[in-house]
Amino acid sequence: MFSTVLSAALHGLCVEFIDVEADVSNGLPMFHLVGYLSSEVKEAGERVRTAIRNSEILLPAKKIVVNLSPADKRKRGTAFDLPIAAAILLALEEVPPNSLDDTLMIGELSLDGAVKRVTGVLPIVMEAQKRGCKKCIVPKENQEEGALVEGIQVIGVAHLKEVCAILKGEKKPAPAKYKRISQNRADKSGLDYAEIKGQHLTKRAVEVAVAGNHNLLMVGAPGAGKTAIAKRIPTILPPLTLEESMELTKIYSIMGELNQSYPLVTERPFREVHQSVTKSALLGGGTIPRPGEISLANKGVLFLDEIAEFQKSVLEMLRQPLEEHSIKILREKGEYEFPAEFIMVAAMNPCPCGNYPDLNKCNCTTAQIQSYLGRISQPFLDRIDICVEVERVPYEDLCRTGGEESSEEIQKRVVKARDIQKERYSSLGIQTNSQLSIQQVEKICVLKEEDKEFMEQVFEKMGLTARTYHKVLCVARTIADLDGKEMIEGRHLREALSYRAMNQKYWRR
Ligand SMILES: [Zn+2]
Repeated sequence: MFSTVLSAALHGLCVEFIDVEADVSNGLPMFHLVGYLSSEVKEAGERVRTAIRNSEILLPAKKIVVNLSPADKRKRGTAFDLPIAAAILLALEEVPPNSLDDTLMIGELSLDGAVKRVTGVLPIVMEAQKRGCKKCIVPKENQEEGALVEGIQVIGVAHLKEVCAILKGEKKPAPAKYKRISQNRADKSGLDYAEIKGQHLTKRAVEVAVAGNHNLLMVGAPGAGKTAIAKRIPTILPPLTLEESMELTKIYSIMGELNQSYPLVTERPFREVHQSVTKSALLGGGTIPRPGEISLANKGVLFLDEIAEFQKSVLEMLRQPLEEHSIKILREKGEYEFPAEFIMVAAMNPCPCGNYPDLNKCNCTTAQIQSYLGRISQPFLDRIDICVEVERVPYEDLCRTGGEESSEEIQKRVVKARDIQKERYSSLGIQTNSQLSIQQVEKICVLKEEDKEFMEQVFEKMGLTARTYHKVLCVARTIADLDGKEMIEGRHLREALSYRAMNQKYWRR
């Protein structure tokens, strides 16, 4: 008997359908697994046979051949165990011949026949639904995740025996209920900007950065509160739309980072990476590339604390995704693209001891300071939209109680500014000022005549480049949006320029 079971695999963020075929015939007893398989899939043969035996199903002494097609696609991972077992059971006529029609199946088997959780269930179920499948059989632990997709039955199974019983009609399957997703986002961190005393300039810079999706660098002495300010950014990010939620959940599903009982990602990510991060962990990588931290930070924040301590080569690799909002990884078998539309927030000390430019306290030599700052290259710096100095909070500010704005109030302004941008760019396929191309900047971020003259004067003085000039205009546009103004005004431009002044002070002397 010959049988086919539909399954799927992930290739980057793309889902590929795989037909698992089994043929059982008389002949020398043997078990053969073919179809351009990686070692994990080759080992599936042994796992599947043991799991079948331990599910009280007798494997006859026959010739069993299993093929995974198409043959030109490399098969990886352990999610084919369950469909391989099912295809064999179909071919052995252990289960009725039509019981797996219009059904997609994925799952890993352990030797005792238990079905174990796999990654990437959400994108696979989404594609199965588009293809017209009526049912998906997935590991029980992935059931809730699959149930995020409307218009397809998702059946979670815990054991191979259970699968048999369902296919034979001995057990009624209990498909997971499709969940209408609630978008109410309650910030669980309990943090709030109201807890940060003073620091109004920095808080303002953060607000502008978030409103326009701009990258931010904070420079300041240790203990000035850079990290505390960064960690509160999620409290003012605009809520995710359903579409963004699903896009993020897909990535987290592939990485196996979803919460089992509530699998939908409803909050914008805040990913803090350590200085020891490798290129592939940060950007994505592997033989069949998987997304890295920058893609896990998609639609949210990537936080690099103590950025001067990062390997310079790793930072330089960030330049391309910062510019293009996505990352391309080249492999022999083609190009993979992952989204990387994040706000980069970085923090650093101004010198090894952290006290520069306070010469009473700083005991570093000029050469030491320069080499420290030099770890951030000029091209990298050019890709940062907003630089801000964070100073230690004066005593009076620390003692003052109340009077600080709450995150909720700041978030309201951010949301308003984002809405303005969304509407303005509805026909351009972008959402924020930071995504504007150079041509679009020239059309959209128009200055008044007198401001053009002013810009001309400061261009040389501030050592602006073509790239930083456009960044200033984008940031000015965001400041005008926060102000609810249609035109960029002089004060908006001057504030945007102030976010580049530090660049000059520390790096161009
Ligand atoms: Zn120092």
